Amino acid sequence: MLNKKNTYKKLNQPVANSKLAFWQTKSLYEMTQTEWESLCDGCGKCCLEKIEDEDSGKVYTTKISCRLLNLETCKCNEYKNRFQYMNDCIKLTPRKVYSISWLPKTCAYRLVKEKKPLPLWHPLITKNPNSTLHAKQSAKEFAVHPKLMKHHLSTYILEENV
Ligand code: SF4
Ligand code: SF4
Repeated sequence: MLNKKNTYKKLNQPVANSKLAFWQTKSLYEMTQTEWESLCDGCGKCCLEKIEDEDSGKVYTTKISCRLLNLETCKCNEYKNRFQYMNDCIKLTPRKVYSISWLPKTCAYRLVKEKKPLPLWHPLITKNPNSTLHAKQSAKEFAVHPKLMKHHLSTYILEENV
């Protein structure tokens, strides 16, 4: 049995770097392709349509989804060939994460950039690829397919960055 002194000593030992996960130790630029891909939580919130204010340059996210987003799974229906269908679809890179202003506040790439922890529901933490959906953190909760749009896109602007 440990005495009080030994317990204190053990709790205060520095955590070895090898115990930390890759997203805690590597920058976005240093990740392998597999690590980079696994960082995406699959929320689909970056696949929502946006509008830019021509005067201020501010970008607003709407609840209207890209027409290729499957609103049940929050996956792209044509991921491999998406640029053939959607020429404004953006391939996220470390450089883009630093330059884009509209990434969702829960986006794991943005969180790593801002040196913030991943949420407890992130698939890398739960080890469950569907945990973002299960935690109701995906676009599925509120997104509207463009086929169901009845008014101008600007009427669907989200009040808060999701
Ligand atoms: S917002 Fe970020 S974490 Fe969510 S699907 Fe897009 S890239 Fe992945
Ligand atoms: S084409 Fe696919 S990946 Fe690109 S915005 Fe649309 S749903 Fe998302």
